[in-house]
Amino acid sequence: MKVVYYPASDPWVGEMECSACHRLTPAWQSSGMSEGYPHFYCDTCSNCLHRESDKELVYAAEQTQELLESIASSLPRCSCGGQFKPGADPKCPFCSAPYVSQLNPVQRLAFPHMILLDGACLIRDRLSPYQVSIGSHLKYLLRVVRSAF
Ligand SMILES: [Zn+2]
Ligand SMILES: [Zn+2]
Repeated sequence: MKVVYYPASDPWVGEMECSACHRLTPAWQSSGMSEGYPHFYCDTCSNCLHRESDKELVYAAEQTQELLESIASSLPRCSCGGQFKPGADPKCPFCSAPYVSQLNPVQRLAFPHMILLDGACLIRDRLSPYQVSIGSHLKYLLRVVRSAF
């Protein structure tokens, strides 16, 4: 899988503070302009799924529980063995506590800001997936080497 590098100084990079263990994890957040909705996280890891085919459904209809359920029924499994699911959140890499969203799953259908934690993968339907690597350039190079095998 391709690895995309963001320096810590990137304007869309920040640190997520875990509410359970208070440790900081670098994360990249998509801007509202990128129209990264709807997106779903894995229930087991912090990978994120964003499909243009789902966006077309959200564009065309009102955001309802029914629409959410119909999209949810087609969400794939994650390569980690988990499942992309409405209501799942990215998780602290130290203690696995979720970064809980303040929005309910129906509201989240139109929420454009995807959060990609350092090391998480973005899975897409019409474009290739990629893994993000944030901050250290050495860590990035190691991920590129690893992704070649
Ligand atoms: Zn934590
Ligand atoms: Zn996963």
